[in-house]
Amino acid sequence: MNGNKHLFIPGPTNVPEEVRRAMNVPMEDMRAPDFGDFVTSLLTDMKKAFRMENGRVFIFPSSGTGAWESAIQNTLTAGDKVLMSRFGQFSLLWVDMAERLGLNVELCDVEWGKGVPLEDYERILKADTKHEIKAVFATQNETATGVSSDVEGVRRALDAAGHTAMLFVDGVSSIASIPFEMDKWGVDLAVSGSQKGFMLPAGLGFLAASEKALAANASNSEKMTRCYFSFEDMIKLNDTGYFPYTPATQLLRGLRTALDMILADGMESIWARHKFHAEGVRRAVAAWDGCELVAKGPEWASDTVSAIYTPEGVDARDVISGAYYKYQTSLGTGLNKLMGKAFRIGHLGSLNPVMLCGAISAAEMALLDAGAKIQPGSGVAAAQEHYRTKSA
Ligand SMILES: *Cc1c(COP(=O)(O)O)cnc(C)c1O
Repeated sequence: MNGNKHLFIPGPTNVPEEVRRAMNVPMEDMRAPDFGDFVTSLLTDMKKAFRMENGRVFIFPSSGTGAWESAIQNTLTAGDKVLMSRFGQFSLLWVDMAERLGLNVELCDVEWGKGVPLEDYERILKADTKHEIKAVFATQNETATGVSSDVEGVRRALDAAGHTAMLFVDGVSSIASIPFEMDKWGVDLAVSGSQKGFMLPAGLGFLAASEKALAANASNSEKMTRCYFSFEDMIKLNDTGYFPYTPATQLLRGLRTALDMILADGMESIWARHKFHAEGVRRAVAAWDGCELVAKGPEWASDTVSAIYTPEGVDARDVISGAYYKYQTSLGTGLNKLMGKAFRIGHLGSLNPVMLCGAISAAEMALLDAGAKIQPGSGVAAAQEHYRTKSA
């Protein structure tokens, strides 16, 4: 193969060269006397990416799914009632985990293409006058459908009901990419992972916990069984700058560099860049006859990933395999009920307009090869127009 393979899935995302080099270091002693200072400043700086002053961030050697589990096990008890909504493969899996861990899930099923149903949440919370609901869950960015939800709106729904439930947010494909405000929105547990907006390989699960979540952990008397993901073990060692088990030292070195890049850019500038990049992809989709975003309206469209319906009669799997084998380009697959109907372009992390024009060009060629009656060049031209004339 000549040249590079091109990665446009919504995680793992492209890892910047600086980050790759920062991880290419000899193995080191995770109990070295100066390792604790490195970890302490890393944990402190992670709070800036989550936009929080108090509380703490945990770094688990896991993927995001481990942080999902940790959030639940450490602050809730089997049998606790929680409010969740399901509108894509990731929100579906979090519901499945909550049920398997024994929570009593009050579930809002939402049409795929939309997100967290704020009015239903507010109505249910207002009706729960005895405050039996212990936690409200929101998947901020449903990576399967390319749908973003209004987490601040969930906070408003809780406040409008005068409800004291904790607010859990899945921010795996949104934090460090699109606006997220732990403190301002009163989020209690926010889950993320290394391989999406944080521009690292997979292998670290991040979990931000508010003071209220930490208090819920401390006072959780009928504890849900937990061990590997226990806050208590982690807090005891993190407070000295170390971990209760062997940390992924190279990933932590990479995280240091990625975080330095993120904080040097500034969160607002990263959010604006993701919006700018996403809009070019959306212009391309609008230009392709018969293609359409899975997101049902601009208010739902995600700035980190676009899920795109192929035209009637065009199997999205042919588009994805054609892009991969003929054009060395990975596009995201249609998950669950979107299988064969949609493909995805991930536009989060370390990218620029020319890379995205490449993704759009590969998707366009693969669509044409798979029989789509789109105008050759139409998507690329629409994206170029946006990237040339607008800025982040
Ligand atoms: C990727 C993703 C997950 C799962 O994370 P893993 O790191 O694969 O465990 C969960 N939720 C969302 C929204 C995601 O995009």
